Amino acid sequence: ENQLSAVPHRYRKVGTMIIAIDGPSGAGKSTVAKAVARELGFSCLDTGAMYRAVAWRALQDGVPFDDDEALGRLARAHDIAFAHEEGEPVPRRVSIGGIDVTDAIRTAEIDRAVSPVSAAPSVRAALLEQQRRIGRAGDYVVEGRDIGTTVFPEAPVKVFLTASAEERAHRRVRQNVDRGVGSVDYDEELTDIRRRDDQDSSRATSPLRPADDAVRLDSTGRYIEEVIEDICSLALRARERADAAASTSTRSAAAGGSLRTEVRGASASDSSSGTAETVADLMNDQEGSCR
Ligand code: C5P
Repeated sequence: ENQLSAVPHRYRKVGTMIIAIDGPSGAGKSTVAKAVARELGFSCLDTGAMYRAVAWRALQDGVPFDDDEALGRLARAHDIAFAHEEGEPVPRRVSIGGIDVTDAIRTAEIDRAVSPVSAAPSVRAALLEQQRRIGRAGDYVVEGRDIGTTVFPEAPVKVFLTASAEERAHRRVRQNVDRGVGSVDYDEELTDIRRRDDQDSSRATSPLRPADDAVRLDSTGRYIEEVIEDICSLALRARERADAAASTSTRSAAAGGSLRTEVRGASASDSSSGTAETVADLMNDQEGSCR
């Protein structure tokens, strides 16, 4: 029944693949990226955590956010590492220069610092290199703002995940209540989300925008399973296209029955049944560092 459960082995067998998930903060990218990675047996790279780690280091060192050169030097000098548990595709911890910053990068102070720091072209250049190196090592779901446009423009699956600013602010508040950190004031969160959207979309280097060939998914009011399933279906189709391109027409005809995937669109899915959780519910259920 669950066709997707057979997928990981097939994916592992056939080389590497990138699924790029971009979108504004609070759209549910991390929740969805982690679930898709688990479903497909991919690893998961949270590029926002990398920018947050650099912002954390810059604050520690008192580097001014408008000093592009000093920020770039800092980003090049400190390696960012993700620690995985055995057999777990989603990293548990993140460190910069050997210091664990998993929790330290989730504060309101970092929320404010990260947009100006990530706008520095030399920081972006330094992290771009690291992101490509990590992503090319295997099958990855990579989430961020410029993955489909800049980091992996050749990714066969690109998703631009959005949700209304109001829904994203509500999710943030619920998340902060559950975690006991950050603001629980809806208006404050809405203002912060709009400010970050603005800063991320208007910067000169790699602004937040959908790639021309990205599939746009709006998670407002949708069940998480639907969004995850949509992305897994896109991945299956992309794999089939790659397989077909790689085989001769005879071989692909002969192999026709080996990966019968049934692509179910969101409207055909039955995930509105009792057990499904909305993106907002799931975001309140977070643990681990991919967020
Ligand atoms: O995804 P997250 O909200 O943790 O990202 C934090 C910040 O890092 C974003 O607001 C954005 O300024 C920056 N970022 C970026 N490019 C990426 C990922 C994140 O500029 N690929």
